[in-house]
Amino acid sequence: MNFNAYLNDLPIYEPGKDIEAVAKEYGVKEVIKLASNENALGTSLKVVETIKQNAHLAHLYPDDNMSELKEKLARKHEVKVSNLIIGAGSDQIIEFISHAKLNSKNAYLQCGISFAMYEIYAKHCQAKAYKTASKTHNLKELKELYAKHKEEIKLVYLCVPNNPLGECLDKDEIYEFISFCDEDCIVVLDCAYNDYAAFKDPKKKIEAKDLLAKFSNVLYLATFSKLYALGGLRLGYGIANEEIIKTLYKIRAPFNVTNLSLKAGLAALDDEDFVKKSLETNLSELKRYEDFAKKMQISYIDSYTNFITYTFDEKNSGDLCEKLLKKGIIIRNLQSYGMNAVRITIGTSKNNDRFFDEFAKIYKL
Ligand SMILES: *Cc1c(COP(=O)(O)O)cnc(C)c1O
Repeated sequence: MNFNAYLNDLPIYEPGKDIEAVAKEYGVKEVIKLASNENALGTSLKVVETIKQNAHLAHLYPDDNMSELKEKLARKHEVKVSNLIIGAGSDQIIEFISHAKLNSKNAYLQCGISFAMYEIYAKHCQAKAYKTASKTHNLKELKELYAKHKEEIKLVYLCVPNNPLGECLDKDEIYEFISFCDEDCIVVLDCAYNDYAAFKDPKKKIEAKDLLAKFSNVLYLATFSKLYALGGLRLGYGIANEEIIKTLYKIRAPFNVTNLSLKAGLAALDDEDFVKKSLETNLSELKRYEDFAKKMQISYIDSYTNFITYTFDEKNSGDLCEKLLKKGIIIRNLQSYGMNAVRITIGTSKNNDRFFDEFAKIYKL
């Protein structure tokens, strides 16, 4: 069977290993997953209650206007409802914007290593990828590469902070870059972890309202999958000017988000204590991962997220991950990104203790 040729070299997104599959394969009882940047505190109890209360509505199609959630998000971000589009994860908004801007004659730009879906969706549109030599966001290189291929580049991704490396540009740097780009080039600010960054350092805080007031060519992306702990319900959104949002709506299929996800999103936004606790726990536990790395003389990238990236010289990251799996701990190997490094999601204090304990033993072998 022949398929469209561009599919032949399409990279495939590699999800974190599944807890049950690892338990079965390695014969370990209590497997912990520190691999997909899920919220360490689990699902908010208020969300659980809301889902239970609304479970009987599963036979109904969702409200396709998604008015309730959009109105709440519009109030939160101080933008208009017409500036919002909701997706099955912000992943879906990345898909929409790719189809809105990219084709076989143009290109997109990103830093050396960033969120894998940018390239996958760009390839669906047969567009070319430009990546800087630097793995992390380097403003100078991004500008140089943009200037060199200005005619071609119609979309730029700034992942602030960056997944899977954890670093984050300052707001001022981001604004400077957007000003540098042409009006016809959309700059996507992927803010999946921006709340974590802003909590650690206010210079990193990105506000959708301010972006809309200053620029016409930006798309702000946020997700409920990380801080709001709804990864399993697939909910995210984009904020942009009406022209961009209207265009994205042309690509969206109806009922793209489930009614239970919409209800859960509302409850998640209301549970401010849960959000606060998530941010506080994450930052104090992140500090422990930094201290552990220093103690073990492991290099790491300063993180503004709910994960941390450790990089190695002599040790092989694949071996380390495999040995940890045998102990029932799943982390993410970054070898497929061409790095001898691992990305570890910050867990609960108890799970982190278990990681430190097992990793120290394995690392000293
Ligand atoms: C997790 C993540 C997303 C979106 O995840 P969804 O679950 O699709 O909302 C987007 N960008 C980055 C960088 C992420 O890490």
